[in-house]
Amino acid sequence: MNEMRLRFPPSPTGKIHIGNMRTALFNWLWARKNKGTLVLRIEDTDQERSTKEFEDIIIQEMQWLGLDVDEGIGVGGEYGPYRQSERVDIYREYADKLLKEGKAYYCYCTPEELQAMREEAARKGEMPRYNQHCRHLTEEELEEYKRAGRKPVIRIKMPDEAREIVINDLIRGEIRFSTDVLDDFIIFKSDGMPTYNFAVVIDDALMKITQVIRGEDHISNTPKQILLYEALGFPVPEFAHLPLILDENRAKLKKRSDSDAVYIGEFREKGYLPEALFNFLSLLGWSPKDEREIMSREEIISLFDISDVNKSSAVFDIEKLNWMNGKYIREADLDRILQLSIPYLQEAGFIGEELSSEEHEWLKKVIEVARTGVDYLAQIPAEAEIFFTGLEFTDKEKAIAEFRDEEVELVFSTLKEELRGLTEFNRDSINNVFKELRKKLPVKARKIYHPVRLALTGRDSGPELSDIIYIFGLEEVEKRLDNALAMAK
Ligand code: GLU
Repeated sequence: MNEMRLRFPPSPTGKIHIGNMRTALFNWLWARKNKGTLVLRIEDTDQERSTKEFEDIIIQEMQWLGLDVDEGIGVGGEYGPYRQSERVDIYREYADKLLKEGKAYYCYCTPEELQAMREEAARKGEMPRYNQHCRHLTEEELEEYKRAGRKPVIRIKMPDEAREIVINDLIRGEIRFSTDVLDDFIIFKSDGMPTYNFAVVIDDALMKITQVIRGEDHISNTPKQILLYEALGFPVPEFAHLPLILDENRAKLKKRSDSDAVYIGEFREKGYLPEALFNFLSLLGWSPKDEREIMSREEIISLFDISDVNKSSAVFDIEKLNWMNGKYIREADLDRILQLSIPYLQEAGFIGEELSSEEHEWLKKVIEVARTGVDYLAQIPAEAEIFFTGLEFTDKEKAIAEFRDEEVELVFSTLKEELRGLTEFNRDSINNVFKELRKKLPVKARKIYHPVRLALTGRDSGPELSDIIYIFGLEEVEKRLDNALAMAK
C-alpha cells in the first residue's frame, strides 16, 4: 500500500478553536498510528479575514498540545508552497484547463441579478440555484459585459443528466448524493481567488493526500469536490467526517459571553495541562473498546482507529475535563507544576519576581498541598491563599466564642507539646500527633480539629491540617495558637 498522507488545513481567520484542534488531533493520531505523513496547509484564500497572527496561533497551540507535523508550514516539503495565497497561479492554471476543455465557463452575473434569481426560485418554491444564464453567452453578449466592466467569476458545469455520487466514508459508511441538488458552483471568485472547494481539491490532489479527515460540517462540500476531482482527472481520496462537538445542552459549542467558538488557548491560559487536554480531546467522538479514560499519548495512538470514531455528536463535558485535568495535575512532576503555578501566584501578588532558594523550597511544599484541591492551575492562588496572607477570620466573634470552650486550652497546649517533641517535622509525624491527641484527650475529634483549624487559618475548611502545620512550621503554629487563646481572654 502507498504511504498514508493526511492533512490539516485550517483557515487562519480566528483563534483556533476546540473543534479544529480535535480535527488536527485525529489526523495526527491516525498519521502516527499508520506511520504516515501529516501535512499542515494554511487555507488563507479569504484575504479579508485571514491574518498571519492567527496562523502563528495555530502553530503555537498545536506545538503546545504536542501535535508535530511532518510536512508543510514551518517544516517545508516537496509539494509546497503550503499557504494557499502563494498557490494562486497553480489554481489559475487548472481553472484555465477546465475553461479550455469546456468544463467551466465565465459568469458575468451581478450580485443583484443573482439575488433576483434566488427570489424568483423562492417564489416558485424551488431550490435556489444558478440558472446557467452565462453558460451559453453569445459573442456579442460577452463583449457587452466586458465593455460594461463586469468582473467575471468562473463556474464549473454540472453534469446535464443527474447522477448519483457515492462516498464510502470511513466513519459514516456509504453516503449518497444526487447531483441534481447542485448547481454550476463558483470555482474562481471575481477577486481572482479560488473558492475553498476548488483550491482544496487541487491541493489535496497535488499534495497526494490519501485520506481527508475533517468535520462533519464539510459533508455537503464532498460531492462538489468529487465532481472537481473527476473534472480535473485526479484520483479521489478517501473521506472521514468527524462528528460535531456540542455543549452540555447539545447546542453548538461556543463561549458563554458571545457566539465565538472556544479558543483552545483559553485552556492553556487557565492552567490546563496539554497532556490532559490531549487525552480529553481524543475522547470527543472516540473511545477505546475497553472504555478506559485516562490514557497516555502512546496508549491513545496504539488504540486509536479512525473507523471506531462515532457517527453521533460528541458532548464537551467541562466537568469531565476538570476532573481529568486535576488528576493529571496531581500526578505530574511537582517541580513542573511549581514552575507552571508561579505566574498565577505572581499575578495574585503573593510572590515577587525573584525567589530565594528557601522561598522556592517552601513554595514547593505549598504547591504540593494546593494542587490536591484544584482542577486547573489558575485556581492555585485561591487554594493557597492562607499561606500568603496574614490570619483573617471569616467570623471573628464566632471564633472567639469557640476559643473560649473549656477544652481548647488543653487541646492547644497538648498539641504544642507534642509538636515540639517531634524529631522529624513532616506530614506523617504531624498526622501521628493528631492520632495521639485523639487517644490522649478526653474530647471529641471535632473539638480538636475545628478550633485548631480556626486558630491557624481563620476559616472553617481548607487543606489538611497536617499539611497546613507542615507548611507553616512550628514557630508560626505556636504563634497562632497562642494568639487564639489571647483572643479568648
Ligand atoms: N479550511 C477548511 C476549514 O478550516 C478546511 C476544510 C477541509 O478540511 O477540507 O474548515
